[in-house]
Amino acid sequence: AKYVYFFGDGKAEGSAEMKNLLGGKGANLAEMTAIGLPVPAGFTISTEVCTEFYKNDRQYPAGLTHEVASNLKMVEDLMGKKFGDPANPLLVSVRSGARASMPGMMDTILNLGLNDTTVQGIIAQSGDERFAYDAYRRFVQMYSDVVMGMDKEALEHILEHKKEDRGVRLDTDLTAEDWKELVGKFKTKIRETLGQEFPEDPQEQLWGAIGAVFGSWMNARAITYRRLNNIPADWGTAVNVQSMVFGNMGNDCATGVAFTRDPSTGENYFYGEYLVNAQGEDVVAGIRTPQPINKAKKKDGDLPAMEDVMPDCYQQLVNIRSILEKHYKDMQDIEFTIEKGKLYMLQTRNGKRTAKAAIKIAVDMEKEGLIDERTAVLRVAPSQLDQLLHPSLDPKAEKKVIAKGLPASPGAASGEVIFNADEAEAAAKLGLKVILVRVETSPEDIHGMHAAQGILTARGGMTSHAAVVARGMGKCCVAGCGDIKVNYAANQFTDRNGNIVKKGDIITLDGSTGEVILGMVPTVSPELTGDFGTLMEWVDRFRRLKVRANADNPHDSKVAREFGAQGIGLCRTEHMFFEADRIAAVREMILSEDLEGRQRALAKILPMQKGDFVGIFREMKGLPVTIRLLDPPLHEFLPQEEKDIESLAKTMGVSIQALKSKVEFLHEFNPMLGHRGCRLGLTFPEIYDMQVQAIMEAACELVKDEGFTIVPEIMIPLVAVVDELKRLRENAIRICEDVIARYGVKVDYLIGTMIELPRAALTADEIATEAEFFSFGTNDLTQTTFGLSRDDAGKFLPFYVETGLLEEDPFVSLDQNGVGLLVKMGCEKGRSTRPEIKLGICGEHGGDPASVIFCHKVGLDYVSCSPFRVPIARLAAAHAVL
Ligand code: ADP
Ligand code: MG
Ligand code: MG
Repeated sequence: AKYVYFFGDGKAEGSAEMKNLLGGKGANLAEMTAIGLPVPAGFTISTEVCTEFYKNDRQYPAGLTHEVASNLKMVEDLMGKKFGDPANPLLVSVRSGARASMPGMMDTILNLGLNDTTVQGIIAQSGDERFAYDAYRRFVQMYSDVVMGMDKEALEHILEHKKEDRGVRLDTDLTAEDWKELVGKFKTKIRETLGQEFPEDPQEQLWGAIGAVFGSWMNARAITYRRLNNIPADWGTAVNVQSMVFGNMGNDCATGVAFTRDPSTGENYFYGEYLVNAQGEDVVAGIRTPQPINKAKKKDGDLPAMEDVMPDCYQQLVNIRSILEKHYKDMQDIEFTIEKGKLYMLQTRNGKRTAKAAIKIAVDMEKEGLIDERTAVLRVAPSQLDQLLHPSLDPKAEKKVIAKGLPASPGAASGEVIFNADEAEAAAKLGLKVILVRVETSPEDIHGMHAAQGILTARGGMTSHAAVVARGMGKCCVAGCGDIKVNYAANQFTDRNGNIVKKGDIITLDGSTGEVILGMVPTVSPELTGDFGTLMEWVDRFRRLKVRANADNPHDSKVAREFGAQGIGLCRTEHMFFEADRIAAVREMILSEDLEGRQRALAKILPMQKGDFVGIFREMKGLPVTIRLLDPPLHEFLPQEEKDIESLAKTMGVSIQALKSKVEFLHEFNPMLGHRGCRLGLTFPEIYDMQVQAIMEAACELVKDEGFTIVPEIMIPLVAVVDELKRLRENAIRICEDVIARYGVKVDYLIGTMIELPRAALTADEIATEAEFFSFGTNDLTQTTFGLSRDDAGKFLPFYVETGLLEEDPFVSLDQNGVGLLVKMGCEKGRSTRPEIKLGICGEHGGDPASVIFCHKVGLDYVSCSPFRVPIARLAAAHAVL
């Protein structure tokens, strides 16, 4: 087997297609080399080595040593240097790189190959002793941290001490002699702490670093990141060994990171940051404030742009930007270094972006002819839309801005201030909304960022860890907020006016403007036109699956239509019963001792129900509306509090005792499996009769007076046996025909059922003989298939997901292998006896992208979800086709 892939001098054994084998970084280094971009030569050890390494008890496969040696030789020949050579030493970086980019998860080691001998060679080559010792001490710091497990702080401490001693503030103020001395001190400290020598032998250094990269695949941060992002452990990481170029050899050197378009807004302009005379991750580490690359968006107070400071290099970079975009046909996130005026590319990958940017870039690139509509639609992940569909701060709201930072990831969020990731996680588990406030974040904070509503950092730029990770998570983030001073010890920060904000105080972040606001601020609905509208037009052209919304009132119906719903898939009638002016009549109906009493109460409810349906039908302008007849157990409507029972007894003119015993009588031990759904309709037919009458009168009235075309879909819940449906359907038809005759208009209607019990799915062929449509109620179907109470599952289901017993919460994403089979069977059996039957799904799953794709595959006609998720479902339905 081949384990190592070479790249250099315009030729590469790998390519961008080989991400699985070479990791994202290695594959793209190869690709950039092959298309003629300036990439320092090197080689990639494949992910297969990582997998075998773990399979064979941390042993490398035979032959690896030899392949590494021969590839290193090729690099040496190309560079005209030799690894470990005292006079003309080659230095390399050792870089990890998995298939999926895992920001900050694994550590890169720079300047490897330095020791007390080779450093002399570097001094001779560069003629710069200070540079050489600075590189050396960086290497000792990085290597001892990543490979040897040395405490970083201990060496930082020695460095700080040195600066104090010398009376200087910045690293750049230290001299060659200082750095040289520090290298010695570092090594001594390492020996004292670890009881181990810092390795002098470059070969030992190289293999130590390679081992550390493979080892880091199983470190706690990497494992957490993989769990949060569903990355399998057996993918493995690759290792890239690459000859060093130096951004820290003087003022004609620099290092930087950039995005070919703005990752926050998607605007087509070159966005990035760089630092003169710096190395590696200095830009993202937040030690010195980076300077902008481009002057177009430079703001007052920003440091001079690269465009002005290094115009030649800037031009090289601009050319590469356009080569990369034309080649990859997507926005790129790049890392580069300039050594003595010459530009080198060190990384490119498809850039992470906000949902807003994803849409703008996709639509723009289609217009620029780089991609077609199909690709544009595929460029936006359905789940990502969630970000955009959420409210942003109400522009008219009063707000007390207490600080301003960088708008690092858009959206708005309010919550209690918390300063530590563990506490943020604990608070979120209790259901609190929190804002994580940190000086800066690191990979150790990921779980806290995940738990928080938003993230605020005092330091770091738009490409800092906090910013990149927050954008990936779709969380709002304000980064680099120099206005605030964080004091972890006191659990507080001071704002720009010196006022104190304590742990637990509420703040609001606006990730689109960078504002930090004291207290809670109201929000407004998102913008659905422009690029969003264009993309959704394409989406609708591709998809087959229709998308409806769950809505119970005219307002939600309107929102649903604005979000592109093609009808209502679930209108729950019980919500209507809870309104203050009706609940009394509903209770009266439930508590009546006889039919007459119930009918008297129902007569009061009828006009109100009719009014509800008129409002909804009118709002939906003739689009289909599925109305579910009363479903929950009756006791849900009853008063439980003593004083409510008393006052109800008074209005009904019965004794408190009588009412109490009635309430007790209606109590159920297992109400979700109790007297609900069609079981109510069968035992109290007058309830459903009233509802059907209200639906049909509303429809007939609108058809007659307002010229609408309406085909109401009347849905009967919780059917297990075909005869339940048969009897209720006969009743419903009788009422419908009666109303139609009274109004003297022609109105079609459909009568169908929910499939939400396993027995219904199993006998769907029989049930379909009485049903013109099915709607799979996958919430209840999941509950009854798993035998798992939705209301109690919160106590143990998270454990199941965390420990891998279940891949996902089956109430969030449809259990395709179990519950999904019942859905599939229900569809097939239903169609076998009624080929034209309409099939849909309602419930949370209708807005979950993976479940939507499943629904497309099993051939449903539509999904129905909450209004805010309609665009997500539309996009997922298009992805299902493409
Ligand atoms: P990450 O995956 O965390 O981005 P990288 O492997 O990209 O880590 O390394 C981080 C940084 O180190 C790069 O952005 C670059 O600035 C620097 N670097 C890596 N390899 C080299 C090299 N061969 N020459 C110069 N700088 C390098
Ligand atoms: Mg890193
Ligand atoms: Mg990188």
